[in-house]
Amino acid sequence: MTKRRYERPVITKHHSGFMNKFGNSPVSVPKTEIDGVAVKKLTEEYGSPLFVISEKQIRQNYKNLFRIFRSRYPKIQMTWSYKTNYLNAVCSVFHNEGAWAEVVSAFEYDRARKLGIRGENIIFNGPDKDENALIRAIEEKAKIHIDHFDELYQIIELAEKMGKQAQVAIRVNMDVGIYPKWDRFGFNYENGEATEALRRIAINKNLKLIGLHTHIGTYMMSTEAYRTGASKLVHLANLLKSQFGLVLDYIDMGGGLPSYNTLKGQYLQAEELLPTLEQYADAITAPFFELNYSSDEMPTLFLENGRVLIDDAGFLITQVLANKRLSDGKRAIIIDGGVNILFTSFWYKHKISPAQQTSVHTENAAIYGPLCMNIDCIREDIVLPTLKKGDQLVVHHVGAYNVTQWMQFITLRPNVVMVMEDGSVELIRKSEDLDYIMSLESIPAKLQTGVK
Ligand SMILES: *Cc1c(COP(=O)(O)O)cnc(C)c1O
Repeated sequence: MTKRRYERPVITKHHSGFMNKFGNSPVSVPKTEIDGVAVKKLTEEYGSPLFVISEKQIRQNYKNLFRIFRSRYPKIQMTWSYKTNYLNAVCSVFHNEGAWAEVVSAFEYDRARKLGIRGENIIFNGPDKDENALIRAIEEKAKIHIDHFDELYQIIELAEKMGKQAQVAIRVNMDVGIYPKWDRFGFNYENGEATEALRRIAINKNLKLIGLHTHIGTYMMSTEAYRTGASKLVHLANLLKSQFGLVLDYIDMGGGLPSYNTLKGQYLQAEELLPTLEQYADAITAPFFELNYSSDEMPTLFLENGRVLIDDAGFLITQVLANKRLSDGKRAIIIDGGVNILFTSFWYKHKISPAQQTSVHTENAAIYGPLCMNIDCIREDIVLPTLKKGDQLVVHHVGAYNVTQWMQFITLRPNVVMVMEDGSVELIRKSEDLDYIMSLESIPAKLQTGVK
């Protein structure tokens, strides 16, 4: 018989009463493996903390969302939002499934081109496209989504000078009933700015107006906001057809579908609170049937979803560095992954599971990262079983916006691996080392003496 694991005794205060509206006290089921690969084995090989991405889950998410939209509207083109997670291996899975690239900076544009994505399969969004980036995008026939009038005039000048026709759409912002309004990107619908921009584009021979774009916000909890957004773009498309005889290739409804991660301030779990993907797809596609287009003119519906496609395909494995009691008696757990690599812990209550069998004794705790900073808190309150130094925890739903927003702050960024569909494990981004970080710096000669 194997020796049973020692666990220190605990005295738990019992509260009498009924189950409340937030359900019974949660039971944490250990997450001992990711797609069949043992968590322990992963960290033995690649260290801790460790980001793990599931190829299988990405593909499943992609196919599912594509199927849901395709069954409601036949012409769908998915584009992968690079800023959500632009690791080459991740982008490659999406491109392999058929997604185009959606980029929001010259840096991301260049990344997509380096991966071999042709200009015409790149959607170029964002408020900052410098002159070189615009020239390249015009040359390579990328789909440029114009953000403001200054950019419009710059593109007109460049295209004229180059003797080329730029492939353009405009980004439209609008009141969709969600406040505060996202009105800093693109041209406003209600005040007539969008129509004004479209008129200028429609009569310019150096510009080819091929689409309309909106991205109404992120983690949108309302299907009706999308219905309103789509209706307003459809209205603009009908106007373009009646006034200029212009038929669009596509209408781009952006991203923003929620990833079923629970936000701070939400009491219920996200799955219980949010509409289904089918309901979102119904709301987004329904207004398309109000287009005054013949059936063979119908535009392609572009989608730019990020978080909904990758969040649940990403995990962060961490380990317990210490258990503590705060001065008020509250339990605290210190782990080796901090907010510098888990940016999303600022707004999500990430699900966190132990990675080994544990006792049935649970207690509320705060989870802190290893940084020497007060803000380094991963969860303010979470009910977890007793854990020892060296025990592992798996943070769930971290595939979106972490490996693009992470910071090298007092420590180095860790390895990222992908568990492939066949169960093999591939290192897709090496952890940084001191030489790599220091190779970017230099010391002025006069500062090279001093205490050694
Ligand atoms: C960030 C972004 C997306 C992706 O947003 P998600 O909320 O991750 O789906 C799509 N389009 C644009 C223009 C963006 O800026």
